[in-house]
Amino acid sequence: MKLTSRKVPTFGEQRRAGRQNDRLQAPAMRSRYANIAKLQIDLSFAGTSRPPPSPQSHSFFPPARAFFRFACPCSECDGEFDLSASVAELSEVKRPSARTASGRMSCEGVHFRERATATPCPMALNWRLVIVRSD
Ligand SMILES: [Zn+2]
Ligand SMILES: [Zn+2]
Repeated sequence: MKLTSRKVPTFGEQRRAGRQNDRLQAPAMRSRYANIAKLQIDLSFAGTSRPPPSPQSHSFFPPARAFFRFACPCSECDGEFDLSASVAELSEVKRPSARTASGRMSCEGVHFRERATATPCPMALNWRLVIVRSD
């Protein structure tokens, strides 16, 4: 029997596959956050000397998965930005019906983790949440 040669997944690829799997396991917005009619997450990036990656905007409606971890847009990076705690906190705010929060966090990922030249990622995320409540 001949063994087929298979590319060994990099740490970053494993991390991405794990995140994809976690997303599938996440509860729906309507069960985790029953009072949220819409959640919008805006992401913009800074911290690199090159032109920063394009901003992102994600909208979550009741059927969507309640999953708020976003990959660092650096292609060499294995990091991610986790906004789960911020969403949970803002969801507790009762009034008025639309609520916003914003903040900044640094990437904790590493470039080329599997190589000798590994360096911490300089990317920073500016995030903004807007929640529209249904009650
Ligand atoms: Zn990064
Ligand atoms: Zn990076």
